[in-house]
Amino acid sequence: MSTPQKLYEGKAKNVYTPEYDQEYLTYFKDDATAFNALKKGTIKGKGEINCTISSALLKLLADKGIETHFLSQTSEREMLVKAVKIIPLEVVVRNIAAGSLCKQTGLEEGLTLPFPLVEFYLKNDDLGDPLLTEDRLKILNIATSEEIEELKNKALKVNQYLRDFFANCEIILVDFKLEFGKDINGNLLLADEISPDTCRLWDSLEQDTEKRVLDKDRFRRDLGKVESAYQQVQKRVLTLIEKLGNT
Ligand code: UDP
Repeated sequence: MSTPQKLYEGKAKNVYTPEYDQEYLTYFKDDATAFNALKKGTIKGKGEINCTISSALLKLLADKGIETHFLSQTSEREMLVKAVKIIPLEVVVRNIAAGSLCKQTGLEEGLTLPFPLVEFYLKNDDLGDPLLTEDRLKILNIATSEEIEELKNKALKVNQYLRDFFANCEIILVDFKLEFGKDINGNLLLADEISPDTCRLWDSLEQDTEKRVLDKDRFRRDLGKVESAYQQVQKRVLTLIEKLGNT
């Protein structure tokens, strides 16, 4: 087997080109960044947890008919995926007000939104990942009207499924970020990862507003017990998946 070539070094993952064309190998790191990489750190074991949770969730979504880049989890920290060209967008879906939505609009954290809000942010660190309007998306030639509709519909479908899934793990899916890419045939696939790095997850069994946080906000806001929160999410996700597999 030829040595994989590193294609890209990201903040939380590296991407390698393995043996076959049209496949990438992603390696999940323990490195954590926040606030546009101004804050840097390490979350011990995060790579394994995020790779395992993402693999499980992407597989579940694929079973629900949502096309994803996931092929297989090849080791604790490695995921084999279909090669895609990532669309430079962070597609954010929100069920409950938190984070930048509260900062930018003054909405109170924890407010349940009247409908799931889909937002597009430009993936560009130098520009600070600005929020885009649909017309800006078209002017920047990132997506056509049809593609914007397709992205929105797919993101909402993912939300519907994941919100129910997490609810069955006693976890509230507050918001999350998705990335999409196009394969060699131009098919739009859900890509990247779905993990406590990219979702806000609140323990529905916990009322305390700090203790309930089971995601990267523990790192962003120096809340402590980051590793155990990630472990807790993994445990609940894998337990439910096992239960679903047995029914
Ligand atoms: N998010 C992400 N990567 C980013 C920005 C946001 O995964 O570069 C996720 C974040 O974890 C949250 C959701 O997208 O689940 C919405 O994030 P928000 O816009 O509130 O930004 P934040 O204030 O968290 O940076």
